[in-house]
Amino acid sequence: MSNAESANIKLELSLLNNGLDFILKGIDELFDNYYILREYLNAADIGTKSYKYGVLNLFSGFLLLLKERLFRYKPELIYKGSLKDIRNKLDSGKVPNTVDLDEALEKLEIGPEFVFSEQDVKLIRYVQDVRNKFEHYKISVNKYELWSNLSKFLELIDKFLVEELHISIEKSPEALEITEKIHKIDSVWERVQKERRRQFDRDIKGKIEEFNKSRDRVMRELEIESYYSKGADFLLTNCPDCNERTTLAYGEFKGICTNPECGSGHGLTECAKCGELTPGYPWEPKFFCSSCLDWISEQ
Ligand SMILES: [Zn+2]
Ligand SMILES: [Zn+2]
Repeated sequence: MSNAESANIKLELSLLNNGLDFILKGIDELFDNYYILREYLNAADIGTKSYKYGVLNLFSGFLLLLKERLFRYKPELIYKGSLKDIRNKLDSGKVPNTVDLDEALEKLEIGPEFVFSEQDVKLIRYVQDVRNKFEHYKISVNKYELWSNLSKFLELIDKFLVEELHISIEKSPEALEITEKIHKIDSVWERVQKERRRQFDRDIKGKIEEFNKSRDRVMRELEIESYYSKGADFLLTNCPDCNERTTLAYGEFKGICTNPECGSGHGLTECAKCGELTPGYPWEPKFFCSSCLDWISEQ
């Protein structure tokens, strides 16, 4: 075995093992023993320090897995630059730097012809962006958004381990531990999401009751507001139940239909395509208004 070959074997071991190790460390920094994002229920952002190291570790681990995939295809691909430059450097005894995320994604596409979906790339970029912000300055995070994205990112890692690296969990105790943790985090996350939707629906019911008690005042205010803003067009939006433009689009009773015969209430969120307010949970992306949905289904 040549020196270069044995060096390569060592490198391969350290890529994968370090990758798995970093991911485990990241998960343990970010999640508590109940698989809940740390400090999730605290109002203050005292958890940012463990978020910082958690995200840094998780991202480094992920990058190592990408390098592992490149290495298996052609070891030199883990280095920055063109193959010719890399070989020249290696021949003269130098060790080039290894690829960053952009180059790793590019080389995965050219080499083993692996491409992440557009949605996956968006998610990877989100985690990279959070990592950069944590690395360079303090940020305040929306914990719900962070948890939501991290749990999707972990699923992506899980899939990559199985489908691209063919890591059998029977053979690697670290991979087994990672997979088990990811699945538990995922199911806890599902539960939290459901609870949040239920809470929101309960709040809307309360708001409808309150609106009915203060209907006269609210309608008077709407009239005045509408007079000064020359028309109530942006003050009201379509009600999905009575199909009238009678749902309040602003203020404390936003989402409540003012039509006395209807009286329904919904959360309102911006349509992901046209920006029009449409019924949906405000924190969940990818809601479309009915006309955009019609348009999409016709395509
Ligand atoms: Zn209505
Ligand atoms: Zn729309």
